[in-house]
Amino acid sequence: MLTPSFEVLDERFEKLAYGNVHLEKLYTGCRWAEGPAYFPAGKYLVWSDIPNDRVLRYDETDGSVSTFLAPAMNHNGHTVDREGRLISCEHRGRCVSRIEHDGKRTVLADRFDGKRLNSPNDVVVKSDGSIWFTDPTYGIDTEYEGDAAPSEIGASNVYRIDPANGAVTAVATDFVKPNGIAFSPDEQELYVVDTGATHVKNGPRHIRAFKVNADGKSLGENRVFATCTVGLFDGFRFDTKGNLWTSAGDGVHCYAPEGALIGKIKTPEVVANVCFGGPKRNRLFICGTTSLYSIYLNAQGATWPR
Ligand code: MG
Repeated sequence: MLTPSFEVLDERFEKLAYGNVHLEKLYTGCRWAEGPAYFPAGKYLVWSDIPNDRVLRYDETDGSVSTFLAPAMNHNGHTVDREGRLISCEHRGRCVSRIEHDGKRTVLADRFDGKRLNSPNDVVVKSDGSIWFTDPTYGIDTEYEGDAAPSEIGASNVYRIDPANGAVTAVATDFVKPNGIAFSPDEQELYVVDTGATHVKNGPRHIRAFKVNADGKSLGENRVFATCTVGLFDGFRFDTKGNLWTSAGDGVHCYAPEGALIGKIKTPEVVANVCFGGPKRNRLFICGTTSLYSIYLNAQGATWPR
């Protein structure tokens, strides 16, 4: 018997949850919590509080929360690369940056075709070291989560940063507002959310799945994987079995690999993003509007933090 923290829509979901586990609230006091990234070596999680222009850190060893970075260029999404470095999407910096081992910040991408990026939103690192990110306009639309400015590019695209030469290429250019992004565990597909419904009446509120071409650098045919049933999808991650755990309006929605909504983790606030963490990668950290939550699952985040 699962606790009320879970809602089972398909019996497959029962195997992904533990019987006596509840949603835990770890911190509250944010305006819009986003961009969680877990550092296994340090046993801590960082996440963004975008309107408050800060990045917070949850220390898993003692449960304390401290300020990791403030001001923080209105960071949004984060991930950790294969060398354990923090990769950040900066709204106000209008770039994707990396914190090096010596603590210095390196801008990895701030332009495409000579024009400034809009406001990178979410990011993922492929096993070959390439960095893939989305660039909607949420961070330049208003003064609330960045500095308001017109889009120089005039479109909201998905980009790839080449690990060898740093070149930025557009890999998908037909999105309204690309948002959360992650590879399937085998990296044969790239999944990207479109939250275009924020800007276009009856616009997209779905996740698209793209075939990654044999070159590993470009995308082929694509399909709509799932359409959100409550609110909007934002950030999401896969477990090792290919189940997709995504943010939604009433909690975290879990989709089986073929696209069926099989269950939910219910939260009292709208969820913006999730990531797996903990020493066994079986703890899902959930950024839910004002608060950071977590819950243990009978599932593990795919292979390594990305
Ligand atoms: Mg996002």
